[in-house]
Amino acid sequence: MEQDNREILAKRYERIKLIVSLSESVISFALIFLFLVSGYSVSLRDWVQGIAQNRYLQFLLFMAIAGAGISAITFPLNFYSGFYLEHRFQLSNQTLWAWFKEKFKEWLVGLIILLPLSLAFYFLLLNYPDTWWFWLSIVLFLFSVLLGRIAPQVIFPLFYKFEPIDDDELIARMEKLAKKGNFRLQGVYRFDMSKNTKKANAAFTGLGKSKRIIIGDTLLENYSVDEIETVFAHEVGHFVHKHIQKLLFIGTIQTFAGFYLVHIIYRLLLQQMGFGAPSDLAALPLITLILSLYMLIVSPITNGISRYFERQADRYALRNSAKPEAFPRALLKLSEQNLTDKEPHPLVEFLFHSHPSVKKRVKTAEEWLNEK
Ligand SMILES: [Zn+2]
Repeated sequence: MEQDNREILAKRYERIKLIVSLSESVISFALIFLFLVSGYSVSLRDWVQGIAQNRYLQFLLFMAIAGAGISAITFPLNFYSGFYLEHRFQLSNQTLWAWFKEKFKEWLVGLIILLPLSLAFYFLLLNYPDTWWFWLSIVLFLFSVLLGRIAPQVIFPLFYKFEPIDDDELIARMEKLAKKGNFRLQGVYRFDMSKNTKKANAAFTGLGKSKRIIIGDTLLENYSVDEIETVFAHEVGHFVHKHIQKLLFIGTIQTFAGFYLVHIIYRLLLQQMGFGAPSDLAALPLITLILSLYMLIVSPITNGISRYFERQADRYALRNSAKPEAFPRALLKLSEQNLTDKEPHPLVEFLFHSHPSVKKRVKTAEEWLNEK
């Protein structure tokens, strides 16, 4: 009975989350579209050109004002799903003040990352109107490598405290697994996920020397050593199969293709809509619109690839854990704790989910165990 309730709750929770996130995308898209066709983007361009001389300053002002307007309108949805909903479903450990503080930090970090990238984008658009898409893709590739390399050491610690894991039995079990996968065990950390949420998770992150597996305290404290070991083995599977490098490679191809497509369509529409050069500030919202449509088409492909990688990591966990029968148990326990819908609608899974449904993952695991 209790479990049935949890299942119904999970379905409801995930449905609301999906509706909110889709609404947010649709509203943002509609706002940018209206901003563009209503002539407001032309007025804003004229206004920023009136108050600033420098073209980059004009660009930053234009982006800041347009961006702030859209963020202000979508903020209530953000608050609803990020704070209110998490509390309503009793998944949050955050006070309102802590939520605001985290949001502000996220915003600040995002700004520091986006500022040089946007300036590089506008520089390329101004100076290389025919090849900007190519150079920008290269800049983005180099930037993602850099970010992958420094994020675990520079950015994550801004949000969580990381410590080496101190459970002797667990360490011994992990050591064995890590050796098999050629993974350095110095790279396994516990982090204080519980300060924000009741959910549990683990992840494989970083590139090069910063590669590491991070495990939430919520997972370490509530799961048996056997269960934690299988989750750890799944993450080692991501490492062994080089999933981060592969995703980076796929992402880079998608970036090149995407910006090229944007370049072609943008060129075509610029003249039809009566804009001037590609660097015309008033026309920039058009780039955002084309890019969002492109992502809409590409994200189910990325999700499909990610689900394939997850299945590989699952198989690795089953083959290499000391007690593989703990793996489906851990998956079920995690989905209960995180209010994951174990069996989402196949279309929802196909379009939006980076992981196969828990039902499928458990079924595959049980079939494997039975064969063994
Ligand atoms: Zn995974």
